[in-house]
Amino acid sequence: MTNKSETLSFQAEVAKVLDIVIHSLYSNKEIFLRELISNAADACDKLRYAILTHPELAAKTDGFKVTVAPDKKTKTLTVTDNGIGMNRDDLINHLGTIARSGSAEFIKSLSGDKQKDMALIGQFGVGFYASFMVADKVQVRTKKAGDDSGWLWESKGAGNFTITPDKEAPQGTSVILHLTKENDEFLDPFRLRHLIKQYSDFISLPIFLKNDKQEETVNAGSALWMKNKSEVTDTQYKDFYQSISHAFDTPWDTLHFHAEGVIDYTALLFIPTKPPVNLFQPDRKSGLNLYVNQVFIADDVDLVPFWLRFLSGVIDTKDLPLNVSREMLQQTPVLQKIKQGLTKKVLAELKKRAEKPEEYQTFWDSFGIVLKEGLYEPSDVRDEVAELCRFYSTNGEELTTLADYVSRMKKNQEAIYYLTGSDLPTLRQNPQLEGFTSKGIEVLLLTDPIDEFWTNTFPDYKGKKFLAVQQAGAELEKLSDEKPKGEALSKEDADKLIEKIKATLGDEVKDVQTTDRLTKSPMSLVTGAGQMSLNLERLMRAHGQQTAFNSDRILQINPYHPLIHKMAEMEDPADYVRVLFDQTLVVEGEPVKDPARWIEKLTELLLK
Ligand code: ADP
Repeated sequence: MTNKSETLSFQAEVAKVLDIVIHSLYSNKEIFLRELISNAADACDKLRYAILTHPELAAKTDGFKVTVAPDKKTKTLTVTDNGIGMNRDDLINHLGTIARSGSAEFIKSLSGDKQKDMALIGQFGVGFYASFMVADKVQVRTKKAGDDSGWLWESKGAGNFTITPDKEAPQGTSVILHLTKENDEFLDPFRLRHLIKQYSDFISLPIFLKNDKQEETVNAGSALWMKNKSEVTDTQYKDFYQSISHAFDTPWDTLHFHAEGVIDYTALLFIPTKPPVNLFQPDRKSGLNLYVNQVFIADDVDLVPFWLRFLSGVIDTKDLPLNVSREMLQQTPVLQKIKQGLTKKVLAELKKRAEKPEEYQTFWDSFGIVLKEGLYEPSDVRDEVAELCRFYSTNGEELTTLADYVSRMKKNQEAIYYLTGSDLPTLRQNPQLEGFTSKGIEVLLLTDPIDEFWTNTFPDYKGKKFLAVQQAGAELEKLSDEKPKGEALSKEDADKLIEKIKATLGDEVKDVQTTDRLTKSPMSLVTGAGQMSLNLERLMRAHGQQTAFNSDRILQINPYHPLIHKMAEMEDPADYVRVLFDQTLVVEGEPVKDPARWIEKLTELLLK
């Protein structure tokens, strides 16, 4: 090993995040301390866990602690822990890149608009990089547990950092902030004491504040979740939530309970108000941390089904050994039992909160899209999840429950009808709804990608199957005696017209049929029975999977429509067919193949 410094560049994304953090999180800059203390406490938890399997690491550790030390002379603030520490690779990987899940999406989602970006950063959690909001230089002196010597990492936050071997670095990590002039308030012990109390009071290891040569413990240090509900204030819950979730919002709901029975555990769960940015990362686990007897074990085990992954909080149990291994965590029935218990509890809470529709809508707007994933796969609680789901429908502007939909069903109606699409206003205009609306039959309007999937796998709601309006056939007739107004084309005329339409459109459509489902529109486009809907195809295309899937397009024409009658009388209706077909594509949200031709033909027809 040489004693030479190496200078390395931050990953490009880090530079971008740093820049935004420094310039836009100003009003909340004091959170840097919370982030550093949280990292320090995590590092101690990690070493404590490592010692369970590698007892030799314990020799040099006499009690875990975090120290916050301001120094007025050097204008530095140092946060020190005797936790796991970092080696050279750790420094490069953890402090030089943003490896956290969701970071790529996060960076893409930054708009350049400071207000908006700030809210996003709040949801992302800036972690270590928050240091650069208050310091123009940051040093990290660290030695990893078990290593012989350590490292000094230094950066001014602009593009690069240096790493130098440091033989004298003590076990653990010190983060040394060289505070800028405007930020010397963070040298004031009074201010620091207040901040530690506010943000980190619940941290279970002692946090010392070093004042001159004296050290005082500042935090209460008792795990908040082990306290009695009656001893915890709303503000304490909120601060705890924000600290463990790196969030800025107030939790929409807080569940704090102790479960006794087969498995003994304590849970403190939060449902956020705003969705965290990495909610749709494929590897996103919930934000739940597993503790055994107040010792941190893991933050990435499945403690709830994936459709409850918006939860954050802490689960603490006595029913696992402290030195539980990863493999054991995956197999133990204890976690399975806890998962069942938590799921039940959360669903019951949601049911209760749903009694106030206005409050529930806040939750639904943020997490309905996730909860609906619970309709997709079989589980014991699938029906309960269905009761908690809300949908827009043709019955007014408000969200409805399935129970209410069913109560409004027509006497002989056997299915729950739905239509999928990309947005509500377009869906409300879809011609496929006409036959339903005119008969007074309600249709659910579904706009989330997941809706394309659960509607095909969800067995039934109270004996009622889900049926896409495009797939509705003869049963629609039975639901109302009302006939469409006017005279239908004769079968012979209709067949002739259909032949001409087919000749004009060629392979753009697989088939042309008449339908009774339209009342106002001359035509509408559907896909064949059992095939992917047009909406799903658009979703696939948006994900770059266009060629593999292409359902048959079927053009349905309305034999009662005056334009259709007109076309049937024409020798050559090709121009009309083209223009109407392109118009149908637009209504459906499909791209028009040749917009210029469409406009040209339309203009010609108008001139006539
Ligand atoms: P996060 O803590 O959310 O992962 P940070 O940017 O705060 O994000 O930290 C990045 C990583 O750097 C941590 O996950 C951890 O691996 C490492 N790290 C930060 N501070 C310390 C510390 N005091 N001791 C050991 N490792 C640390």
